[in-house]
Amino acid sequence: ASWWSHVEPAAKDPILGVTEAFLADRSPHKVNVGVGAYRDDDGKPVVLDCVRKAEGKIAGNLDMEYLPMGGSIKMVEESLKLAYGKESELTKDKRVAAVQALSGTGACRLFADFQKRFLPDSQIYIPIPTWANHHNIWRDAHVPQRTFHYYHPETRGLDFAAMMDDIKNAPNGSFFLLHACAHNPTGVDPSEEQWREISYQFKVKNHFAFFDMAYQGFASGDPENDAKAIRIFLEDGHMIGCAQSFAKNMGLYGQRVGCLSVCESEMQAVAVKSQLQQIARPMYSNPPVHGALIVSIILSDPELKSLWLKEVKGMADRIIGMRTALRKNIEKLGSNLSWEHITNQIGMFCYSGLTPEQVDHLRNEFHIYMTRNGRISMAGVTTGNVGYLANAIHEVTK
Ligand code: PLP
Repeated sequence: ASWWSHVEPAAKDPILGVTEAFLADRSPHKVNVGVGAYRDDDGKPVVLDCVRKAEGKIAGNLDMEYLPMGGSIKMVEESLKLAYGKESELTKDKRVAAVQALSGTGACRLFADFQKRFLPDSQIYIPIPTWANHHNIWRDAHVPQRTFHYYHPETRGLDFAAMMDDIKNAPNGSFFLLHACAHNPTGVDPSEEQWREISYQFKVKNHFAFFDMAYQGFASGDPENDAKAIRIFLEDGHMIGCAQSFAKNMGLYGQRVGCLSVCESEMQAVAVKSQLQQIARPMYSNPPVHGALIVSIILSDPELKSLWLKEVKGMADRIIGMRTALRKNIEKLGSNLSWEHITNQIGMFCYSGLTPEQVDHLRNEFHIYMTRNGRISMAGVTTGNVGYLANAIHEVTK
């Protein structure tokens, strides 16, 4: 008898399904705006120069020893400077418990497990919509999920009033998942003024803010500017949690390097860090060394750091440029609809407002691939395909 005959195939990941269909398409015109990874103006994956140079410094010098359970101490230190600011009192006072994590996903999962272990009755409020994996992560950590309003389908912007109502109506001391910048999938972020109001209301309600920061630098081109939501919360004295990823902003996708941090008192930070390590130990023992070394070399070497800042700005600027080009091209074709949201939204994605039927139409008639929620990965848009994409979008929305 088979042991596993009762196992049903898992549901296909919607994003991987898009990639498969794209690869199988033989049309020379095909366009993939489904992927969540940066591409250059020729549609090619990019390895940053600063990464190549850091690898040059490692080559031949790297031993293969285990990292400590909490990962590279230097990488974690540099990550905290980036998220909390170089002059952060919290980090200076050793009030931030932080460990290297398996990129942003691993940082979120480690936090969710920590939340379940030490506040077993707590829940997490998640924005609608959000990166689909957030739901999986907190589900597998057995933390009950609630949702809060975020996106306004008509304005294709933030539903600030509804979001604030949900924050006010949640029980005091609730946990909220916030995207620090470049919200995935909508590209819609609160303004600085709105962040201040959110932070104020979190204070009033004594809520806990967990920031998922997967795109620091990728939104505006400046990592300092993209950390402004976090900085506002810190100024207001919040004890936040934060998941950082170097997948997008350093192009280190497959290296799986990130950081999880949780603010506490100095004494409790030691306890919290030790418990985070304790959760990591039976899952993967300790995190991988190569990517962490690349990150810590880049961030601690002034020359490589300024090269990185230039390169991350280059990626953000190309995407911002493609937003302008896509909007202009659709408007030039005489569309009666508003396409302002393409340039108002920020980061890797444009939440286009295309319906699932229109998305199917794009795929079947024009060989253009995206997820059925109408999310366009701006990283897949190039000088070469933006005209074709604009025309197709105009045709299916006429
Ligand atoms: N959080 C958000 C909002 C994301 O969009 C992503 C990646 O797409 C991640 C976290 C995690 O990515 P990674 O685990 O590759 O760092």
